[in-house]
Amino acid sequence: MQKVSKKEKALHIASILHGLYPETPVPLQHSDPYTLLIAVLLSAQCTDERVNKVTPHLFAMASNPQDMIKLDVLSIEKVIKPCGLSPRKSKAIYDLSNIILDKHAGQVPDNFEDLEALPGVGHKTASVVMSQAFGVPAFPVDTHIHRLAWRWNLSNGKNVEQTEKDLKRLFPESIWNRLHLQIIFFGRQYCQARPHNPYECPICSIYGRKQMFTDYDKIQTLQQMKRQSKSKNNPA
Ligand code: SF4
Repeated sequence: MQKVSKKEKALHIASILHGLYPETPVPLQHSDPYTLLIAVLLSAQCTDERVNKVTPHLFAMASNPQDMIKLDVLSIEKVIKPCGLSPRKSKAIYDLSNIILDKHAGQVPDNFEDLEALPGVGHKTASVVMSQAFGVPAFPVDTHIHRLAWRWNLSNGKNVEQTEKDLKRLFPESIWNRLHLQIIFFGRQYCQARPHNPYECPICSIYGRKQMFTDYDKIQTLQQMKRQSKSKNNPA
């Protein structure tokens, strides 16, 4: 088999993902940069599905920083409770709304520095807002994308920061925003399956790390041995 460069491989993976997910709707419901920022903040350690159930209630009470600061932290906390980490998240929502009003004339800032200076907003959240609200090329890397980049041999990164650098180097900037979503969609559809068979995976079957197959084969052999010894001990 002809050896392909890492960049060629990356582009092939991108084309497989594009074939699977030609449309990339933003999973978090929102109507403007502010509601997106709040939804992304709420999605930390929570599913998008749950966030989408909670935000209509929150945004019915306050969908802009002016209205949000008229609420108190406790009433925000009560509504967002199903998203988890509600004491911390409610305080961040209240405080960042105040800062947006005081320092940014009521508008969500459209640059990394100001976004990351807001309470509860890390680099990943800022990257999502920059790409999905302002269309600026960014590559938000969470633990799921980090894991997939390792499995597909695109990065040996020990942390999300290194993985983000590697992915940005491998993929053209013009596709970063959609690719980030396509990888998330892929992970949700394929990587959750149990039992997990890398030989059947549209990407790992071509580019997966050897270790995944060795681990899978080992599990299969062990299971087979268990079945054999069970049928020996309990002959029909
Ligand atoms: S083999 Fe599994 S982990 Fe790898 S990409 Fe496919 S579904 Fe995900």
